[in-house]
Amino acid sequence: MSLLSHAFFRNEEAAYEFVESRVWPRGPVCPHCREHRNIRKLNGASTRIGTYKCYACLKPFTVKIGTVFEASRLPLHVWLQSIYLIAQADHVVPARELERALGVSPKTAKVLTYRLHKAIYSPVARVRPSVRSGSGLALRPGMTPRTEPRSEALERRRATALEDIFSAFHPV
Ligand SMILES: [Zn+2]
Repeated sequence: MSLLSHAFFRNEEAAYEFVESRVWPRGPVCPHCREHRNIRKLNGASTRIGTYKCYACLKPFTVKIGTVFEASRLPLHVWLQSIYLIAQADHVVPARELERALGVSPKTAKVLTYRLHKAIYSPVARVRPSVRSGSGLALRPGMTPRTEPRSEALERRRATALEDIFSAFHPV
């Protein structure tokens, strides 16, 4: 089974559920006021997928706020496909390649490659403690590992793509 056949690469609701489980492992958190209790998912017929309302500050939000996906109208499952393709490639993926692989416009492909390359290939290590805690490399966000050259970090990132690529969820 191809990894790209996962529901979250194909279905928008599944994509939201997947990203939410990564960004909010303990349940939704309001990006405006950090409230995590008085929050309800909105399910109206005209409500956009993945919309929540915070009853502390009364503002709506989705999991995209504060991530590389913020303010993008591109479906989240297409973002996930892009992250996967970029993380799996053994080269820096040019916008033209994403354009062909995903069937998106040249402009969309440029935005995708710009935001994702910035997030994935940033010189600042974006290592989640849960991934590396066993190797003694647990880092705070923004810390650069001293014991691992950047090229090895990138190799490891590709090797465990589905885990590590989601470091791209960090704010840009
Ligand atoms: Zn709030």
